[in-house]
Amino acid sequence: MRWKRVCAVAGVIAVVLAFTIAVTHIGAEASPYKLPWAAGELHSVLQGNSRFDDAQQCTSGCSTHDDDSMRFAFDFDLPEGTQVLASRAGTVALANGSWPSDHCVSATDANIRSNSAIGNETNFVEIDHGDGTSALYLHLSEVAPSIERKAKTGERVEQGEVLGLSGKTGFTQCMPHLHFQLQGSVRADWFTTSLPVSFSDHDVIARTADGVPVEGETYDSDNSPITVAP
Ligand SMILES: [Zn+2]
Repeated sequence: MRWKRVCAVAGVIAVVLAFTIAVTHIGAEASPYKLPWAAGELHSVLQGNSRFDDAQQCTSGCSTHDDDSMRFAFDFDLPEGTQVLASRAGTVALANGSWPSDHCVSATDANIRSNSAIGNETNFVEIDHGDGTSALYLHLSEVAPSIERKAKTGERVEQGEVLGLSGKTGFTQCMPHLHFQLQGSVRADWFTTSLPVSFSDHDVIARTADGVPVEGETYDSDNSPITVAP
């Protein structure tokens, strides 16, 4: 009798577990976000979401993604000049492509973390998704002229649309990469608190059921570039 009950409990646990895994999987596949580069390109996660092990040792996002503003951010290994694609459709909340492509700040510059004026000297695009969230694409070498235009007109930006080219502008230690984060959207503020985000690309889901890319791993994208005339 007792054994039967144990079996029944184990059965219920198995069903709940299977359901949870299925829902998580479906959730990731249904994510409206795709990796922000073209299919066929492989790029690695230089720095992932902030994570700690059981001993409270930092295992991911330990370099700079260690506060609320960047807890769920990613640094992707995009060489300078790589097309950066919209991860999800929306409108341009803010865009700035005014800095020269070699305008970068290294960690040796004094008080960099407290000097927001220097840290803010970066080319970026922020896409508002219309649901209270926006995606931030940082450190670009240049912003696409069509995006600069759409920032003024409010025209829609499609998933896959070329936002600009990756680079190293801003606080990058002069290492080209793309900092990507989903965040709360505040029209007047380009950098707010990061939010959890998963991706629906097959290569991501195949290796992480929750759709969250892992630091140190390399991924292919399902995204397709759309180039828009200036
Ligand atoms: Zn970063």
